Amino acid sequence: MILADLHERAAETGQRFPLTLGARGSCTIGGLVSTNAGGTQVLKFGTMRSLVLGLEAVLPDGSIYDGLAALKKDNRGYNLDQLLTGAEGTLGVVTAASLRLVPAVVARAVAWAGLSDPQRALELLQFMQARTDRIEGFEIVPQDCLDLVLGHVPAPATRSPARTRGTS
Ligand SMILES: Cc1cc2nc3c(=O)[nH]c(=O)nc-3n(C[C@H](O)[C@H](O)[C@H](O)COP(=O)(O)OP(=O)(O)OC[C@H]3O[C@@H](n4cnc5c(N)ncnc54)[C@H](O)[C@@H]3O)c2cc1C
Repeated sequence: MILADLHERAAETGQRFPLTLGARGSCTIGGLVSTNAGGTQVLKFGTMRSLVLGLEAVLPDGSIYDGLAALKKDNRGYNLDQLLTGAEGTLGVVTAASLRLVPAVVARAVAWAGLSDPQRALELLQFMQARTDRIEGFEIVPQDCLDLVLGHVPAPATRSPARTRGTS
C-alpha cells in the first residue's frame, strides 16, 4: 500500500497514520518499515519502528512469518517484527503490517521564529517541550536556504517569513 492511500483510508474513519514525508505519493508501507523511515512528525511519534504493532513477512526459506496480532502486551521471546523493521529486506519480504493510528488532527498551528543561531533553536525547542507534549515537528531552515527558495520560487507562492502579511 502507498503511504498517501493509507492516509486517505485512515482519514475516512476519523483517524490518521502519524508519519508523513516527501515520498508519500510513491513509497510503500513495506519500504517505510524496511527503512525504518522517520518523516516530519518523528519528534512526537517516533520512527516507523514505534508505529509498527505487527508484521507478516515471507522469510528466505519461503515460510511465512505471521506476527500481525496487534497485542499491546506481547512478551513472548524475541520480537521478530522489530528485527524486520529497518532490515532493508535482508531478513524477509514484508507482506502486511498492523500499524498504530491516532485520532485525526482537529487543529494545527505552525509558527516561524527568527533566531540568531542553532543553539537558540535548540533552546526554543526545549522550552516548548517542557511545556507541552504536542510539538510534532521542528525544523531549522538556514537563512541561505531561505534566500535560495525566495530567489528561485517567485511570489505569491513564496513569501519571506520576516515580512508581515500585507507589507512589501
Ligand atoms: C522525496 C523524498 C522525501 C523523503 N523524506 C524522508 C523523510 O523526511 N524522512 C525519512 O525518514 N525518510 C525520507 N525519505 C526516505 C523514505 O523513508 C524512503 O524513500 C521510503 O520510505 C522507502 O519506501 P519505498 O517504498 O520507496 O521503498 P524502496 O525505495 O523501494 O526500498 C527501500 C528499501 O526497502 C526494501 N523494501 C521495500 N519494500 C520492501 C518490503 N515489502 N519488504 C522488505 N523490504 C522492502 C528495499 O529492498 C530497499 O532496501 C524520503 C524519500 C524521498 C524520495
